[in-house]
Amino acid sequence: MKKTLLPLLMLLVSLCTMAQQLPTSPNYQANDRFEQLGTTLPTPNTYRTASGAPGKEYWQQRADYDIKAELDDDNRRIIGTETITFFNQSPDDLKYIWMQLDQNLFKNDGIAARSRTGTVNQKGMNADQLQEMNSARGATLDPKIEYGYKITSVKDKTGKALPFTINGTMMRIDLPLVLKTGTAFVFSVDWNYNITEYYGRSGFEYFPKDGNANYFIAHWFPRLAPYDDVNGWNHKQFLGQGEFALIFGNYKVAITVPSDHVVAASGECQNYAQVLTATQKQRLKQAETSKTPVMIVTQAEAEKAEKRENKNPGKKTWIYKADNVRDFAFASSRKFIWDAMQSDVYKSGRKIWCMSVYPKEGNPLWEQYSTRAVAHTLKSYGARTFEYPYPVAISCHSVAGGGMEYPMISFNGGRPEEDGTYTEATKYGMIGVIIHEVGHNFFPMIVNSDERQWAWMDEGLNTFCQYLAEKEWDYNFPTRRGEPNQITEYMSSDKSVLSPIMASAENVIGLGPNAYGKPATALNILRETVMGRELFDHAFKEYATRWRFKSPTPADFFRTMEDASGVDLDWFWKGWFYGTEPVDQDLVTVDWFSIDTQNPAIEKEIARKEDARKKTTMSKIQDAKTKGETVVAQDSTMADFYNRYDPFKVTDADKQKYEQYLATLSDNERQLIQANTNFYTLSIKNKGGVPMPVIVKMGFEDGTDSVAVYPAEIWRFNDVQINKVISTKKKVVQWTLDPYQQIADIDTENNSFPRIAQPTRFQIFKQQQQKKAPNPMQMQGAGGGKISTDPKN
Ligand SMILES: [Zn+2]
Repeated sequence: MKKTLLPLLMLLVSLCTMAQQLPTSPNYQANDRFEQLGTTLPTPNTYRTASGAPGKEYWQQRADYDIKAELDDDNRRIIGTETITFFNQSPDDLKYIWMQLDQNLFKNDGIAARSRTGTVNQKGMNADQLQEMNSARGATLDPKIEYGYKITSVKDKTGKALPFTINGTMMRIDLPLVLKTGTAFVFSVDWNYNITEYYGRSGFEYFPKDGNANYFIAHWFPRLAPYDDVNGWNHKQFLGQGEFALIFGNYKVAITVPSDHVVAASGECQNYAQVLTATQKQRLKQAETSKTPVMIVTQAEAEKAEKRENKNPGKKTWIYKADNVRDFAFASSRKFIWDAMQSDVYKSGRKIWCMSVYPKEGNPLWEQYSTRAVAHTLKSYGARTFEYPYPVAISCHSVAGGGMEYPMISFNGGRPEEDGTYTEATKYGMIGVIIHEVGHNFFPMIVNSDERQWAWMDEGLNTFCQYLAEKEWDYNFPTRRGEPNQITEYMSSDKSVLSPIMASAENVIGLGPNAYGKPATALNILRETVMGRELFDHAFKEYATRWRFKSPTPADFFRTMEDASGVDLDWFWKGWFYGTEPVDQDLVTVDWFSIDTQNPAIEKEIARKEDARKKTTMSKIQDAKTKGETVVAQDSTMADFYNRYDPFKVTDADKQKYEQYLATLSDNERQLIQANTNFYTLSIKNKGGVPMPVIVKMGFEDGTDSVAVYPAEIWRFNDVQINKVISTKKKVVQWTLDPYQQIADIDTENNSFPRIAQPTRFQIFKQQQQKKAPNPMQMQGAGGGKISTDPKN
């Protein structure tokens, strides 16, 4: 609605008042949204500074492992022995040490199994589903088999047995002597366990058609729990959802498998000379200089191996070395096809082995995309963090969906149909999951955060980098997470299922949107809207570099992002990481002011139109038909001066008065009047709760538009409702908040003024339930197996 400002001096006074933004609204409430996080963050100390960097006395523990293990393919068991050198680099003396026994997750009497909740589905459940209801997370377990570790020996280096106590997924070893600060303790553990079916992080996948299994072996050996300056011993039980807290060390691992298996593992293989055939070695040599992946084991060779023509293949031992890693995993199968290239992804020219192993069931997608996606990930992530420091990066095709990460190796889904066709979702899902899991090398394998407590510190940061890497792979990549409008549905959910991002990984409902989607979106918003790319990228890189091969906490991240950018983000961490409120800005109304020129030629014409508008009522319209029948119309003696008088006519007296007025004005004031500027007061409500920048698009009368951006601090005096004056030369006909979907506004219907009705489409006829529709490749006859080119090209 247009309002006229009268007179000029009053206009200047009122603008000054608005500029001060005084908290005079009756809705004003003292709020702490823009107060500093203060005591919410831990007090800085000599280990972790107030700037978010490691302090001068920062320390962390270290454990080196020498492991010998055998994969028993017939019985699906792992039998292992390990010698561990534990370096007490803490300032404290230790009486005991804690180790993690993750395989105990699958014990029937474990916390994970017993604390599982659920109900019987009346529509029917199969035996697996019934059995799974009281077992650990997602694992289909054979009731006839006993799972979990058998610890057969714990000894010191002289061979003397050490007393140990098992508490669920943790084991305490009591030391014969106090382990002084700065000293090391060498001990060994022997163990074995039955391998579960793949449950999302490790296990085997069985292929009934050929009778073989692929093994994805992880959290398979007893590992040191961290002892750190934040938690002391970090021995929170493994319940399946919260991932791992680990320390760095050097690994030497000897893995014995049937001799017809191909092994892929964390680290560099030390004895390809012994385990590979002459042809394979020659192909590997060729891969050292190839710009595209070279087949080390071809599909034909893998298909021959899976027939198991040799019933007694004997055994082979693959020896690996991995330095400065926080974990070690491997995959093994006779079904594996293997391709590799030694890629120079960085300017430094350092070569890194990018490799993939996959069964034929993964083709044609895997041979075409996997190793290329590995190399792309190292390049993309390297540019925004640091150069990938390890010599190898491997992508293994595990089961159909999902993925799981370990140092230098990851287990990834994405499987075509049996006829070799696939949906678009399968293709991009596969490339996306490879980028994600290989990307985990950066977070948390190198920037070693505590995953069991803070899922977002690795998943959120990694999903954010994945989102960027996907767009660098293909401008039209259908990214699943990262765009603000992809988190609005979750942010609109019922409060009872929303946890803050800063909740423990084990307790979160909806880990996907909470620990992956929301933090990735938050970082994207920081980069695009709050900080800008330059400040954000510098700070993010600083965080990654500071905490490379160290263990950061959330405070270290929050502090570094502010310290390196000079942007106060406490309000943002509060809203997005500590809170569950959504963003919803409501453009309640826009008032339009223009300056009263006092020029009678202009103002009287405006007044005439307004007068005519007011007089045009329905009665008057109807009366027009009988206008000629009135007394005054029929009897001219009834008319006088006022029947002819035009109050809107510009008189000489009006002109004179205007001349006198102009003479009192300064040049500036005269210009302001002539500019004919429009002033708009926008009234905006913060309905969602989280204060965010206000982004306003102005659609002008002439069809052009323009966007104004105001920082989140616009809400600092009043976080409920604000007014903002915008002046424009052109008339605005349409106002829109957040036109380019930058702030994750959950309700966009209240973003426009005047309101624009958005239709809801509905179907007249119920759609028939259909059988699984053929995918587009099948419909267009593009299927029928391989579509890829010769990998040697
Ligand atoms: Zn992940």
